[in-house]
Amino acid sequence: MEREKILFIFGAGASAEGGAPLMGNFLENAKKILFDKKIVLKNKDDFKRVFGAIDTLRNGQIEEKLNKKIDWDNIESVFSVFEEIQSIEDFPISSEDRKSFSRSLIRLILETLEQSIIFPPSVSTGLQYHQPPYPYGLFATLLDKINKTTAYEISLITFNYDFSLDYALERLHLQYGYFLDEDHPAIPLLKPHGSLNWVKCNQCGRISPIPFAEYGQSYFDSYKIEKHLTNELGKEPQTGKIMHSEIRNLLDKHKCPYCCSKAESSPKPIFWNEEPVIIPPIKSKNYEKLQIIHDKVKEEIGSADYIYIIGYSFPESDNNYIRKYIDENAKKYKRMILINPDDDKSLENQFEDHNYRREIRNLRFGGSIITIAEDLGLDFTEIKIMADNLGLSIGLPI
Ligand SMILES: [Zn+2]
Repeated sequence: MEREKILFIFGAGASAEGGAPLMGNFLENAKKILFDKKIVLKNKDDFKRVFGAIDTLRNGQIEEKLNKKIDWDNIESVFSVFEEIQSIEDFPISSEDRKSFSRSLIRLILETLEQSIIFPPSVSTGLQYHQPPYPYGLFATLLDKINKTTAYEISLITFNYDFSLDYALERLHLQYGYFLDEDHPAIPLLKPHGSLNWVKCNQCGRISPIPFAEYGQSYFDSYKIEKHLTNELGKEPQTGKIMHSEIRNLLDKHKCPYCCSKAESSPKPIFWNEEPVIIPPIKSKNYEKLQIIHDKVKEEIGSADYIYIIGYSFPESDNNYIRKYIDENAKKYKRMILINPDDDKSLENQFEDHNYRREIRNLRFGGSIITIAEDLGLDFTEIKIMADNLGLSIGLPI
């Protein structure tokens, strides 16, 4: 008999308790970081280029050119615009400059998330590693419990660029995979918009993730990171905030799993694109590179029995394809639960014309974990104790 499948879908709201901005206030947060005198930005010029480009495009009647309304505060919508203008012929800005807008925006996203998302140091002495951002550690412990004690199959889709969830799975030694190639990992972790720990190999063109363990199993132990920062890079450690950029330093040692090119054998830029592989929601060249993931997303939504949608509000910018897949399958879901702290009825209104069952829980991700455990008949106290023992559940909620 086939096992029942639980699918979890995550949006930006899921990383909010860990410190991440939402899509709608991302640029506002980036601006605050840019003007914060206490923060020394690595990519200051990129931040300035992005804000300059937004001003130029807004004043240049770009909405008429693209024939759509643009939400200039929303990072995904601006990212999409930067991508779309690259294929317009006869544009007043040179194509080289337009390309640099996208590259700068990707660096802005990386550094804004680096400055916002907190990987708290474990409070437990003897466990000298960074915890995953709250509440991903607790959630991964729940997944571990589902894996070990129930017959459910798990599948994960996240639209977030950050690797909070990936890192939490890693901490629990759960076997997951991104479906970037033909591997068949136990738990699919599908990231249709890319990930900050992915790189494109310039030699063979394939996308490869930088494994967290590549630099030795314990690279992400906090004391090692701090030692590396102080001794080798001459930087002051910023405990808990460095992870998203720090993983890019591993590129120096990274080996392409497909063509086996190594940075060491040649100057780095020949082998790796400096920017992480992340893409806006619109269809573009890079979007096609991630087609294998999109196909799998469709398959997972089509084959789920239970579906939890956490902090994801079906943005228009996703062309609503996720909505479409869910609508096509929702009648056969045994349970469909939307977890979102906003009780402004917008989610409810989105579904009002649909005669399938769904439940909306006005909870934040952290507070919802106990309810998911209850749904599955699992003892939450046991999960909490295990997470505490692993030093994973004690992130300060923001
Ligand atoms: Zn390669």
